[in-house]
Amino acid sequence: MQTLAENLPIAFVNSLEHCAGFDRTAFEAVHKAGEKVTSVRLNTAKTQVPANIGGQELSPVPWCPGAYYLAQRPSFTFDPLFHAGTYYVQEASSMFLWSVLSQVAGEPGGERVLDLCAAPGGKSTLLASYFHNGLVVANEVIRTRSNVLVENSTKWGTGNMVVTNNDPSHFQALPGYFDVMVVDAPCSGSGLFRKDPEAISEWSEDNVTLCSQRQQRILADVYPALKEGGLLIYSTCSYSSEEDEEILDWLMKEFALESCPVTLQPDWGIVPVSSPEKKAAGYRFYPDKVKGEGFFIAAFRKKEHSSGTVFVKKNTLLSPATKQEAVMVAGWLQQSEGLFLFKQKETIIAVQEKWRDDIAALQQTLHIRKAGVAIGEIKGKDLVPDHALALSLLVKKDLQVWEFSKENALQYLRRKDVDMGEAPKGWTLARYEGVNLGWMKVLPGRMNNYYPVEWRILKD
Ligand code: SAM
Repeated sequence: MQTLAENLPIAFVNSLEHCAGFDRTAFEAVHKAGEKVTSVRLNTAKTQVPANIGGQELSPVPWCPGAYYLAQRPSFTFDPLFHAGTYYVQEASSMFLWSVLSQVAGEPGGERVLDLCAAPGGKSTLLASYFHNGLVVANEVIRTRSNVLVENSTKWGTGNMVVTNNDPSHFQALPGYFDVMVVDAPCSGSGLFRKDPEAISEWSEDNVTLCSQRQQRILADVYPALKEGGLLIYSTCSYSSEEDEEILDWLMKEFALESCPVTLQPDWGIVPVSSPEKKAAGYRFYPDKVKGEGFFIAAFRKKEHSSGTVFVKKNTLLSPATKQEAVMVAGWLQQSEGLFLFKQKETIIAVQEKWRDDIAALQQTLHIRKAGVAIGEIKGKDLVPDHALALSLLVKKDLQVWEFSKENALQYLRRKDVDMGEAPKGWTLARYEGVNLGWMKVLPGRMNNYYPVEWRILKD
């Protein structure tokens, strides 16, 4: 049976009566109206011009550069630029993270960043763009959900992400390691009721209590990995104060943290709040006030020292590619300077040289699903290029390319054969509107499509 957004549980609406900025009539009306807001954040490293997605005009999301509302939701599946990682479809309120970072973290300069609860990767890709010189560890505890994180970080292509699949407690092996930590905690999810009315039936007061306890456990587990002076950003998509302001009070009582307020523009409609006891600053997003879904966010700076040191054990050091392999790889890269190439089985992986020891340190403590950019596999005298290379910023710009029409680009993304006509033979980058989609090998009279099977479009 379909649930309607207007069927909000009475106990739920009553529980919000005491929340700052809550307007029952407007809140119920906006759920009843059920408007769908669609927004995207551009990958400015791949595209500078707003893509005219679905042929429609875009209007800016005011708190995040390069982010836009779409007048209508197009079929993203049938937009090749979506698969190429030129934009990420992200709920607008949660993009406020950018504004928080720009005010509290300031100019980025090579930070170590953890996104603890990261799948499917909305905030991780935002962090990878913001901290373009940094290293972003995107972690997801649920193994199956970490797959989509690998996919989205590969498509984003910035190369500064490490995807891990660990429990928050495992990060205690990295005391004082991270400069910035984002905990976008699992929550009771009421902020998404308008978008996903099916979730309404799962709401209960008991679940709010359970979520609140789990949020505390997660924060307590990961806290030692934040360095002194480091930034902790906590967010949920719940309206319940037990998961929002009360967590802020709990954090302030439990740890030596300083609340970091941010400045808002009045026309954004975001409600500034302070926690009841410790007066920590937080920000509430109500869909009747902002153009976006329900969201809550707060930032803190750590005032105490974290005890312990991270040592890299010799046996976890990464095995560098040989000189010969490095030469083989160089022809595929825009530039090799500043890159460290290492081998994992037969695959050559590139990371920024400055992160070499960090990747080794992470490898000895965490379960890494993906680090840096996979360049390709050495097969005899040849390199079979990896899909990640095609979508990354590292790939050489003047390799052999073939620009597809939209129809053929979609055929390619379905992993079907495309008639290549007179295309030159050999390894070729499949492109659409100047953006790489993946690899193919053009052979006499046919082509081999190297688009990853698991990511292909299944719909016709
Ligand atoms: N940050 C993501 C984004 O912006 O795309 C959304 C994250 S979602 C709100 C919360 C995530 O926490 C989910 O991916 C969920 O699997 C994960 N999670 C669930 N239980 C957890 C736990 N006990 N510890 C850490 N993460 C957990």
